[in-house]
Amino acid sequence: MPWYAAAAPDDGFEAGVDSVPMNDLRRAVEFQAGSLREAVEAVLRSGWFVQGPFHDEFEWTFADFVGVDHCVGVASGTSALELGLLALGRDGAVLTAANAGGYTMTAAAAAGYAVRFADVDESTLCLNKESVEKALDGSVSVVVVTHLYGRMAPVEEIVALCDERGVMVLEDCAQSVGAERSGRKAGSVGHAAAFSFYPTKNLGALGDAGAVVTNDAAVADRVRRLRQYGWGAKYEIVERRGGNSRLDELQAAILLRNMRGLEAGNARRVQIARLYSEAAAGSDRIRFLPVEPPGHVAHLAVGVSDDRDGVRETLRSHGIMTDVHYPVPDHRQPAYASEHAATDLPVTETAVHRVLSVPCFPELTETEVDLVCHALSRL
Ligand SMILES: *Cc1c(COP(=O)(O)O)cnc(C)c1O
Repeated sequence: MPWYAAAAPDDGFEAGVDSVPMNDLRRAVEFQAGSLREAVEAVLRSGWFVQGPFHDEFEWTFADFVGVDHCVGVASGTSALELGLLALGRDGAVLTAANAGGYTMTAAAAAGYAVRFADVDESTLCLNKESVEKALDGSVSVVVVTHLYGRMAPVEEIVALCDERGVMVLEDCAQSVGAERSGRKAGSVGHAAAFSFYPTKNLGALGDAGAVVTNDAAVADRVRRLRQYGWGAKYEIVERRGGNSRLDELQAAILLRNMRGLEAGNARRVQIARLYSEAAAGSDRIRFLPVEPPGHVAHLAVGVSDDRDGVRETLRSHGIMTDVHYPVPDHRQPAYASEHAATDLPVTETAVHRVLSVPCFPELTETEVDLVCHALSRL
């Protein structure tokens, strides 16, 4: 029995060794404990804890990986969205999808933008050109395209549409690091892009971290100032609305290590997600969103079901944890609902009641994946 099989799952479920958790970060840490310790010790030895050499190396290594000129490390994915939106320097409204967890809405509000929503494509649950075109009005100055669940949305088509109208595009790549479309990586197509390195993301730190990437030197410079009090030079504040959103040296060193396993981890996630799709192919109770290589990085394995509660209960009876990403659409969130009472997003509304996520992370064992497949094949 592997060491982690006896560990308690995280959401209160009482089961034996057969239970399959949504995630178990202890495994990833255990598998590479040696190299993580090396990274931490190298930082301890350097005596440099903020914006030191690992930080700088991570910034250019990650920019190179995405295929852009600039990467600016920040404290989280939400902060990357907020500083990215501030750095684009527009006002008016941000247009985005309402089914992606509310991070963009939160960041846009903090950056002083109004928020509008476009509905999503029924087959991918991401924005597409038609849905954006329908919702674009004169108030919108930035479209945030979320590459949801590991799928890269057709952002090049949305950029082409927005370019004609002088609207900027920010990619939210928190769930899609390494994803590709037509040979271009997520984060390299819009005017700027935000990444999260929250521990459960495909590239995770051991705490909070994020980054803004862009080919626009002026935008990168502005994010560099905004993440550090608005300073142009030490103690000289040249930018309003700055704050402290730096990427820790320890997290940067760990991210550099974890980048080595990113492609293999992404490939394993895709393999697992595809096995689930195949296992459930004959079921009329669940269908999985497509995960076609190349390009998809299967951050989550998401199924759609008219009987979500029943399916979750059946899987639970097999010891399989599930989750919902996300149960409340942005425009129905209590703090914001009053200003969106007239917003009508039929595909989004239908999807939030039907989506469920099944365990999909690289350290799942073959036995666990088999168990999930077996349960899915009998749904
Ligand atoms: C996780 C996530 C974020 C926020 O990242 P944090 O680092 O947790 O702030 C933003 N957008 C999406 C789509 C995410 O999944």
